[in-house]
Amino acid sequence: MSELLSVQQALERLLAEFSPLDINNIPLVDAAGSVLAANIFASRDMPEFANSSMDGFAVRSSDIVNATPASPVSLAVKGDIPAGTYPDIKLGPGEAARIMTGAPLPVGADCVVPVEQTNIIGRQSGLALPDRVEINLSVHPGDYVRPIGQDVRKGELILSAGTRLRPQEIGLLAMFGVADLPVHRRPVVAVLSTGDELIPVDEPLQPGKIHDTNGYTLLTSLQKIGVSGVNLGIVGDNAQAVQESLDRAVEHNVDLILTSAGVSVGAFDYVRTVLEQNGGLQFWRVNMRPGKPLAFGTYHGIPVFGLPGNPVSAFVGFEIFVLPALEKMRGSKSFNRRFQRAVLLESLESDGRESYLRAVITSGPPGWQAKLTGHQGSGNLRSLVQANAMLLVPSGVKSLPIGAEVEFWFLD
Ligand code: AMP
Ligand code: MG
Repeated sequence: MSELLSVQQALERLLAEFSPLDINNIPLVDAAGSVLAANIFASRDMPEFANSSMDGFAVRSSDIVNATPASPVSLAVKGDIPAGTYPDIKLGPGEAARIMTGAPLPVGADCVVPVEQTNIIGRQSGLALPDRVEINLSVHPGDYVRPIGQDVRKGELILSAGTRLRPQEIGLLAMFGVADLPVHRRPVVAVLSTGDELIPVDEPLQPGKIHDTNGYTLLTSLQKIGVSGVNLGIVGDNAQAVQESLDRAVEHNVDLILTSAGVSVGAFDYVRTVLEQNGGLQFWRVNMRPGKPLAFGTYHGIPVFGLPGNPVSAFVGFEIFVLPALEKMRGSKSFNRRFQRAVLLESLESDGRESYLRAVITSGPPGWQAKLTGHQGSGNLRSLVQANAMLLVPSGVKSLPIGAEVEFWFLD
């Protein structure tokens, strides 16, 4: 029998087998969800020129120190500065320029007075430029002005290699004119369900048969994180069929193969045999519940996870082992599950293995509170659907009283 590994040990051994995939330059519009493969430095100050944060009048603050609604200060309007133009106006004492949000400040001006604080309240385009404007408000130098470099200074590191690109990062890159960028190629993952009892969801059941569940859960888990899946469908407990399916994965040039079932020590477990003959297989006992047996190997050089057959075990195996491996392949620096702490609303029993329990988390007071959902059997998918979180009960813990603190992470 192989040694019993902790989840942490198993994960470390697994991750050592993966490296980030190759780097390609891709257009910015296609980059959301990918992981940046280089540090990006600011090519310019942001903003690059001092500009108005309001529609209003660019003025010299020294001209309007005494301006109030009761005694407005009248200034001569020298010109118009719409956004997208660069002013050649220079303001002297007693002068103002009409300015739109985002337009560059003219030389001489040191602040902006919003239109609402003047007698010219219209701001629609095409409005005739007035000769004079009355200012009702005294503002300070710099008010309503976005100065050069307020957001970012030229040369600063704006995004580091290993960053997953969300819409906000894409926006920042666009702001700096980054039209294409180096990212890690995203993995392509094949999914295979094994077992003589399995029938596709759109075919009628026969006595003793069940619908394939894991194929659907795994393929959509990949979809959810933007990884493309190759559906290898179902194969029976038959070495020849398993091998033919895995050969299809090789033809598709996939980066990873996920199988479910057929890795336990049962009489009809052919996945193991096929892997042992065409690559390698490590059969691990991981001190966890659900999902103690985990097979990890290679098929013609492609890494393979042999996930357990029970639907909840397969789901948990994906969360705990496959997700971090995918993250590493995609180029992320690390995989950080967002653990939080909750107080138990009921006592619970565990068997001393590191346990992942399906739970409903509600908000306090104070803080988060946890209650288990339904039957925790590893075939019972309904209680996973009813859960909004997984609790983590550490190894060595056999029971926890009401009020004990537990760690959990939200399942969306
Ligand atoms: P095994 O690992 O083959 O011993 O399977 C363990 C349990 O998981 C058995 O009850 C199987 O029927 C069930 N099972 C295996 N594969 C699937 C699947 N793709 N969908 C639903 N249940 C499955
Ligand atoms: Mg089976």
